[in-house]
Amino acid sequence: MRLVTYIRDGEQRLGALSGDDEVVDLQRASGSALPPGMLAFLRAGDDAMAAARDALANAEPDARVALDGERVRLGPPVPEPRTVLAIGLNYRDHAAETGAELPKRPIVFSKVATCITGPGMPVYLPKASRALDWEGELCVVIGKPARHVAAADAHRYVAGYMAGNDVSVRDWQSHSPTWMMGKGFDTHGPTGPWLVTPDEVGDPGALDVRTWVNDELKQNSNTRELIFDVPAIIEYLTTAFTLQPGDVIFTGTPAGVAIGHRPPRFLQAGDVVRVEITNLGVLENPVINEP
Ligand code: ZN
Repeated sequence: MRLVTYIRDGEQRLGALSGDDEVVDLQRASGSALPPGMLAFLRAGDDAMAAARDALANAEPDARVALDGERVRLGPPVPEPRTVLAIGLNYRDHAAETGAELPKRPIVFSKVATCITGPGMPVYLPKASRALDWEGELCVVIGKPARHVAAADAHRYVAGYMAGNDVSVRDWQSHSPTWMMGKGFDTHGPTGPWLVTPDEVGDPGALDVRTWVNDELKQNSNTRELIFDVPAIIEYLTTAFTLQPGDVIFTGTPAGVAIGHRPPRFLQAGDVVRVEITNLGVLENPVINEP
């Protein structure tokens, strides 16, 4: 399933993609057995996931909603996650381009959860900086409470995967060793367009990750280049704390970001960033000046 959050007249609702421009409203299709929002749905676990598959397969016409890109459009699949974590320097080639040593353990940092935004939505070039950079990434969404999960069992705790852009403000990133001030500006967490369930993703360790700025291919790698793969990340994080349904993990970016160029070529207003990951669709966001 390609799960979505769609926005109709300002209201965010849980859906599943049923065609190129059509979603099924899962609450309506399930006779209100399912909740109206993604987070409550994920918290309801495997039973809700099974009910969603039934509802999608048997949806009546009145549960089908046409996406017109304006009044009815897609939002971030998980619109209000409790926690957004990210892994830094997790591709060998990206670590090399930044001059950093290969990490011995995952470098974990936090993105402020309010940075999350969706497909087609603008990324702000901040008033406070011109050093705006892209990072195309595979994102993992947790599907059930996870603590002390061994890597071999990690797949059972994954609700699905989505494309993401860990938008970074490089000068603010270096204000402190935690990187946090440069990683959580409003609008700097685009995700989507869909949350794809693992059965439709295939091996999360063998997905092409590509990022374009306008029509120029900037990043072109594969998740097999990850230093710490998805199971290793989940094992490491859950050794320390509980991950909850709907928590989002950005898994790191490959080489080819702006800061890797000499001199850097940062994003400008008018640019469009496109992240494409095998089986996860295309996430495209325009850059505009912060209003
Ligand atoms: Zn990143």
